[in-house]
Amino acid sequence: HSDPPHDRQIFDDIDAQFQLDDSKLFKITTQFLEDFRLGLNEYNHAMAMIPTFVTGVPNGSETGTFLALDLGGTNLRVCEVKLLGEHKFTLRQQKYRVSEALKTGEATALFDYLADSVDAFLTSSPLSPTNAPANPFSTSALDEIDPKQNDALPLGLTFSFPVEQTALNMGKILTWTKGFSAKNAVGNDVVKLLQDAFDRKHLHVRCVALVNDTVGALLSRAYTAGGCMLGGIFGTGTNGAYVEKVENIAKLGDHPARKNGGYMVINTEWGGFNNSRSTLPTTPYDNKLDRESINPHFQAYEKFISGMYLGEITRNILLSLIDAAPKSLLFSGHSSTQLNTQFGLDTAVMSEVEEAWQSGRIHTSHVKAVEGGNAIEYEGVPAAAGAQIVAGEPNTQDVYFLDVNSYGASDRARLEKIRQVIVNRFGIDAQNVSLRDASIVRWAASLVARRAARLSACSIAAVLIQTERAKLGGGVTPKEEHIVVGVDGSLIEHYPRFNTRLRASLRTLVGVEVEDRVDIGMAKDGSGVGAALCALQAIKQG
Ligand code: ADP
Repeated sequence: HSDPPHDRQIFDDIDAQFQLDDSKLFKITTQFLEDFRLGLNEYNHAMAMIPTFVTGVPNGSETGTFLALDLGGTNLRVCEVKLLGEHKFTLRQQKYRVSEALKTGEATALFDYLADSVDAFLTSSPLSPTNAPANPFSTSALDEIDPKQNDALPLGLTFSFPVEQTALNMGKILTWTKGFSAKNAVGNDVVKLLQDAFDRKHLHVRCVALVNDTVGALLSRAYTAGGCMLGGIFGTGTNGAYVEKVENIAKLGDHPARKNGGYMVINTEWGGFNNSRSTLPTTPYDNKLDRESINPHFQAYEKFISGMYLGEITRNILLSLIDAAPKSLLFSGHSSTQLNTQFGLDTAVMSEVEEAWQSGRIHTSHVKAVEGGNAIEYEGVPAAAGAQIVAGEPNTQDVYFLDVNSYGASDRARLEKIRQVIVNRFGIDAQNVSLRDASIVRWAASLVARRAARLSACSIAAVLIQTERAKLGGGVTPKEEHIVVGVDGSLIEHYPRFNTRLRASLRTLVGVEVEDRVDIGMAKDGSGVGAALCALQAIKQG
């Protein structure tokens, strides 16, 4: 049983378009470094390289109690964060819904609502004193605040919208995104808008810091790990923040922050890398996504990488196969409401497909070492006990999926699981989903996800090179035992082997000596803890 050469040709063509060979990864990383340089030298580059005015990272000894407010995700969150020292913290939080009317009405109404939410949070259960050791920055510890001295509660604001920051506690809103359009906000200082609302309500709270979620990830991982050089988000979108030498941030000109030298955290906004797409490996499936998006030609890199888009690229591939002429190549030509709807295929569903296929197996390209007969993955974790080691890379056509008859019983069982995912989550009638279809879907999902992971490695490699911890192609032995990276986002947390694939490419880009020492870990509660740490930093920096 073999497949018609014509079918084979179509699959091979798609497969080839999604392959990124090593030389391409090198080229993209080089371009990244060039864009870093441009963004550090001048304002208004696609890679914004925003100075955050955070000039130090915590080491985990910090203590104190802070409020944090997080606006920009699905919910508004108010948190009380207690830094206990010794890399530990506790967090209490409450979520509040932001209505459509508030999102699109007058800014003062929105900010009044934020202040009311903080008020409600404080009233619902007053802040309790901690047993933490004395805070070296005593004004930041609520338990040490003497009301008679009129100390206001310090609050850090995580605001995940584009902002032009000019100080730790000052930033102009550049534009709204994600369905917000409150009037009379753009062009104004977001900290002042919030502080005015606190003052109108006579709340004894002071917003001392404005922080982006990537910076939050960086600071929070630094707190738990004792240091950190890069924070990365791989969730709905992607972005990164890293610690840069102030002398390299030429665009700060004669800003007082420049005179002190030292280091400053830069929010790269790397999602906007290569908006011209001269270097990114664009396929027709990417073009379709971009054309139909609300921001064509923007956030180019993000559209290849992040959770919001991977499902959509995969959906575009599947639709082209369903519609293939002269003969459909998928689901006997049937589609479904989900598949016919823009963003109808969630990246989380791709995760389920890959999980079903990978369970109990590890591919040689993911094996970093074998110890005692057990494979150790690039993530540094042992593969599941007794995992079967299989040749090759799980994305490509190492399994000749078209010829399902060549599959063994275990392959067929795994394909059957994928078939169930397709029926339940894609909404395709069971009678129209063959095992061969399941195999095709698995292949398409892993093509898209593997490309994303390989591209993600370029941004991390570029930061390692930019900060002189690595050289492109390897050959540097880093000074640090552990190069700590903090990450957050459902994609990197949950997508099977995203991190493993990323690390394998990272090793190609910066060599084994450096990759071995890179410690990528989840930044826990990045936005809450990050905002608290930023508030502390603000008080420290005066
Ligand atoms: P945010 O980035 O908005 O803070 P998340 O980190 O939770 O939120 O990311 C949400 C994105 O991650 C969505 O685009 C969703 O499709 C994707 N996602 C959610 N769960 C998974 C999963 N299990 N595997 C892969 N992607 C997921």
